[in-house]
Amino acid sequence: MTRTILTNATFYTGEDFEASSGSLAIDGGVISEMGDMVAAQPGDDTIDLEGGHVIPGLMDAHCHLIYRDVADPYDIELRKSIPEATIDAVVNAEILLRAGFTTVRDVGSRGNIGVEVRNAVARGDARGPSIHPAGQILSGPGGLADFHPTHVFEDRPYRYGLGVQVIGPHEARATIRRQLKDGVAWIKVGVSGTGFNPLCPAERNGLSEQEFAAVMSEAKYQGVPVAAHAESAESVRAAAFHGAQTIEHGIYIDDESLELMVRNNVTLSPTLSMYRAFAVRGGSMGIPSVIVDQHKRTHERHAASVRRAHEAGVPIVAGGDAGLTHFPQGSCAEEVVSYIEIVGMSPKEALRTITVNIARLLGVSDTVGTIDVGKRADLLALRDDPLRSPQCLQDQDRKILVMSGGERV
Ligand SMILES: [Zn+2]
Repeated sequence: MTRTILTNATFYTGEDFEASSGSLAIDGGVISEMGDMVAAQPGDDTIDLEGGHVIPGLMDAHCHLIYRDVADPYDIELRKSIPEATIDAVVNAEILLRAGFTTVRDVGSRGNIGVEVRNAVARGDARGPSIHPAGQILSGPGGLADFHPTHVFEDRPYRYGLGVQVIGPHEARATIRRQLKDGVAWIKVGVSGTGFNPLCPAERNGLSEQEFAAVMSEAKYQGVPVAAHAESAESVRAAAFHGAQTIEHGIYIDDESLELMVRNNVTLSPTLSMYRAFAVRGGSMGIPSVIVDQHKRTHERHAASVRRAHEAGVPIVAGGDAGLTHFPQGSCAEEVVSYIEIVGMSPKEALRTITVNIARLLGVSDTVGTIDVGKRADLLALRDDPLRSPQCLQDQDRKILVMSGGERV
């Protein structure tokens, strides 16, 4: 089998991103050798990276593959049919891979699109990152993913939306088992509302305590991890108390929640850049003003919560929640810069949130997330040094090469 040799670059290796200069050999899709002594042999395919910098492939812990050129829930759920949303997801998967994202977690889809795109990529029928999908978001009436006024759909839940409505603990449990049958790797649940849904703002709790407790208990019983969308103080506390694997957004995190998060090893997935984009430039992004105003109201609280979580040692993962017109798929890379500027992370800490920390969360750190001998060759080569100029992660023109399993994308 032909080896590939990447040469003339700085490789950021291991969890500490130790700089290693020289070359890196890839054999059978796996990193087989690194360092000054690696020499190309006849028959090797050698790629000169001209002094570039190589990091592990990027990851996105909060992705919705179906989000493409959308501004509000109407765009996501009603403007587009399921076939259109499916094509969007396939196109987005390839966009993400070309932007250097080799692994993503899809935290909410229509139909069962996330699962199907994962399978298509795994079969080699579509190009994209390795996908860890949830299904439709578990939500209650008047909750996170109940986006339309009561007079629409005659008070019956819309079947083809981003959410699936559950009423009571039994439905919550049954929905989890059905989603597992349909192939999900994660359960996504809307514990609170969001500024993105003016009918259920951030401070409102979208499920009853009994419903959410049932979700957590069934998921634990079935051994499937839970991503809990939680913005209100009560929802964050409940998610931390029950030990959800991740809290998504976490706008209001109080002292008690922080303690519970640390004790129960809960990871925070803030999607800070997307929420900041809504608050700061939502108007020019074409986002409805009712949504922009909600985010202006909560942004400072959100930033303060993420800072405190980081100081308390809560693991943080980068999530994009991207796919809007002026916040396209791949914008998750902005999260690294936000963590340095707003949260006070060092560049290495911030780079870990988009690689190492997500690999650990997804249970795949044996194979991906760092550059080490024996790891899968999921790599991103950049012209600039991302530890000095982290904004280069957002600049497609500064990317030299993306590799997925040793294959050049
Ligand atoms: Zn989301």
